[in-house]
Amino acid sequence: MVRPRLICALLAVAHINANADAFMSPAAKATSRLILRAEVESQLSSIKQTEAALRAQLAAVQREKATVLATRKLTIGIVGFGKFGQFLAGKFREFGHDVRVLSRSDRSAEATAHGAVGYHALGDAGDVASFFAEKPDVVVLAVSIVSFEATLAKLAPALKEHPGTVLVDVLSVKEHARKALLKSAPASTSILCTHPMFGPESGKNGWTGLTFVYERVRVAAGADDVVERFLSVFESAGCAMVEMSCRQHDVYAANSQFLTHLVGRMLGSIGRLHPTPIDTKGFESVLKIVETTCDDSFDLFYGLYRYNPHSKSTLLCLRKAMADIELRLISLELDGDAVPDESDRPDEPRGTLDHLDLRESARASWESPAWLKSP
Ligand code: NAP
Repeated sequence: MVRPRLICALLAVAHINANADAFMSPAAKATSRLILRAEVESQLSSIKQTEAALRAQLAAVQREKATVLATRKLTIGIVGFGKFGQFLAGKFREFGHDVRVLSRSDRSAEATAHGAVGYHALGDAGDVASFFAEKPDVVVLAVSIVSFEATLAKLAPALKEHPGTVLVDVLSVKEHARKALLKSAPASTSILCTHPMFGPESGKNGWTGLTFVYERVRVAAGADDVVERFLSVFESAGCAMVEMSCRQHDVYAANSQFLTHLVGRMLGSIGRLHPTPIDTKGFESVLKIVETTCDDSFDLFYGLYRYNPHSKSTLLCLRKAMADIELRLISLELDGDAVPDESDRPDEPRGTLDHLDLRESARASWESPAWLKSP
């Protein structure tokens, strides 16, 4: 209902304010604006301080919770004991959890070296059964992306026998993993899709601040505790925990992770890149990208391309960007902005990638520079 008296009062206040404003000198108006801004800024800074304090408090509580959860021992089965499976095993052991291993190749020596209690062969149905008979609370699938579905098919009979198992995957592509798990795992099996956004190289000096992405795809009644205890390993290790859908992960990853691997692989195939005595920080980063990406298996790189539907467009964009840049350089050159000094290197073709062929013949001289050989 409209209240005529209230409206009149509001109009009168507005009128008084407008009149007061009209009578103020420009200097007084500016001062009043400054005072108002200072008040708002001080209020904002106090709110930000409270927010930061609350955040710090929450982080401390979460760390405390994670540490308490991590002290309760889990039996963690790792399927696929390659580079990444072994890397994970080290951290699980550090937190006192028991580790069991199931892998295609004979990884018994690696399993022992990483403090795992047992090793089983993935190819052998009997061995798969005995791996599950040890009743792992969690089974972490750390096989290659390309062999993921085939591996799940091998585990399917045992999963039916042990429907309470919590299945966790660590694949670098997530939507593919989620769909395959939902298709193959019994309805009562809990599924946690995760992607630690780091590996043995980037995580060798600790996991603090490294991102861990996960989606609780399906958590059966009673499995929450195991899921929380498993996640707490990463939380306690200091990871930045990001709960995100697998779909969203893949969109981001195509433009970050796949792009990084693609650029690293491209740079790596130029030929061996060496540190020089005059390296810039930028070049040091280039060398680091080549080192971290080319050390991973080609299976992993192929998996990032083949099983993330967004990777192809990243590849096309990169190719187009390269062509655009080259075209821009050539156009400038042809317009005469860059005046060639022909006397300098008369034989060197310019303006196209043809000059790479010449570098091939000169490679021997720059691949083994004298200063690299000196002690
Ligand atoms: P990878 O080449 O992607 O995978 C190697 C693992 O896959 C080995 O355990 C190998 O078993 C297994 N495997 C390969 N082909 C197989 C087959 N046909 N059947 C059964 N198992 C097979 O290298 P990775 O770096 O260890 O990565 C493992 C998983 O972790 C991948 O899904 C990857 O996306 C994910 N990941 C890796 C990193 C990283 O930095 N490397 C980071 C995050 C996530 P055997 O050892 O028994 O031969």
